[in-house]
Amino acid sequence: MEAKLGSNPSFVWRSILWGRQVLHKGLRWRIGDWKQMKISENNWVKNFEIPRANPQPSLSMEAVVAELIDGNNKWREDWIGQSFSKETAERILRTSLPKTPRPDKLVWHFDKHGIYSVKSGYQLALNLKSPDRLSCSDISKTMGKVIWVNDIPEKVKTFMWRATQNVLITVENLWKRKIIGDPVCQRCCSMSEDVFHALVGCKFARKVWKLTEFYEEIKVMAHQDMLSVLQELAMKRGKKDIEQIIAVCWAIWHSRNCFVF
Ligand SMILES: [Zn+2]
Repeated sequence: MEAKLGSNPSFVWRSILWGRQVLHKGLRWRIGDWKQMKISENNWVKNFEIPRANPQPSLSMEAVVAELIDGNNKWREDWIGQSFSKETAERILRTSLPKTPRPDKLVWHFDKHGIYSVKSGYQLALNLKSPDRLSCSDISKTMGKVIWVNDIPEKVKTFMWRATQNVLITVENLWKRKIIGDPVCQRCCSMSEDVFHALVGCKFARKVWKLTEFYEEIKVMAHQDMLSVLQELAMKRGKKDIEQIIAVCWAIWHSRNCFVF
């Protein structure tokens, strides 16, 4: 966890160290005997503050929390009171100490058993890159309401999920991956083709929407991601309507592929 980038790092090594940031954010210590937990690390007590300068006796930056515990497995109250602000000292003293100390262990905060999974690591990485994204639980709650509870085939649900995650193979996504040289929609040739454009914004998509009862709502929609589109529609429409809307998106997507290729 403390390895350095080095002077001429490979792409893979850089990537691993970027991934380590995610681990740092998601790992927390399961406290046992406090022998590995440095006092200067800020995730062992809530709203931790750096110890005061020159307390007596003074704490080194390398000191571990175990040094704040006496031989009877009790917090050293005097020392803690001298070294930290009143609030921090109170928080430390309120922290219970395990009766039978076991070694400290790093556990994954986002799993009840403390075990890391690629899925939760990926969600955390996305949130680190775009802090405004909905949290993992918000997304699953919203998507549960909008997509997963609906009575539509699994493959259509998966398609819609991919649309909301912006991972459909649109022209713009192919262009971003440097597979093609131009992000412009191959049907209307007027705009970059992202997921919203392909399913809602493009004038060819609008022709399909025009045949449905949803056209009035669709035609005034500003450019946004498909999760927001579905959320907006779900506030006004019932379950059956949402099923139909998803079916229309599916139809537009497949007619688009026929047209383009
Ligand atoms: Zn278009």
